[in-house]
Amino acid sequence: MGKTMKQVSLDNGIEKLMIPGSKVAIVQEGNSLEHALLVLTKSGYSAIPVLDREYKLKGLISMSLILDAILGIEKIEYEKLSEMKVEEVMNRKVAWMRENGSFFRGLELSINHPFLCIVDENNTFIGILTRKSILAQVHNYLKFNT
Ligand code: AMP
Repeated sequence: MGKTMKQVSLDNGIEKLMIPGSKVAIVQEGNSLEHALLVLTKSGYSAIPVLDREYKLKGLISMSLILDAILGIEKIEYEKLSEMKVEEVMNRKVAWMRENGSFFRGLELSINHPFLCIVDENNTFIGILTRKSILAQVHNYLKFNT
């Protein structure tokens, strides 16, 4: 197709860009920090969503939050990894959107967040939208429309 033909739109919704929940590494709020550390390490992601048993979005857990929680005054308190639960440490402030939210809202939120959680009207987790996929869409749009 020619460069002048409009191939990419920024007006579409975000559902096509979303990574579905089944492919997202998550932990539950009742999991131990040890389990969360394992999932974070094995997945290679620095932060992942925290859900409850009903798959509702509760927060985010990251490697740095876990390290901060187990860091005592003089040493790392490793026993806390099995004693403490994710819900005690997670960040409850999560950047989120609905599945039918606009691309522009996603773009705006992604300025400050590497990924956004997508939830339905019951706050049930559906997936994530990464800054990477938003930037790729903007890049394609600029490539074919300028
Ligand atoms: P990326 O744009 O692929 O580098 O992802 C940015 C951030 O989104 C990662 O650091 C993770 O925090 C999160 N993320 C991306 N993909 C996944 C996934 N499949 N499972 C959990 N978190 C993810």
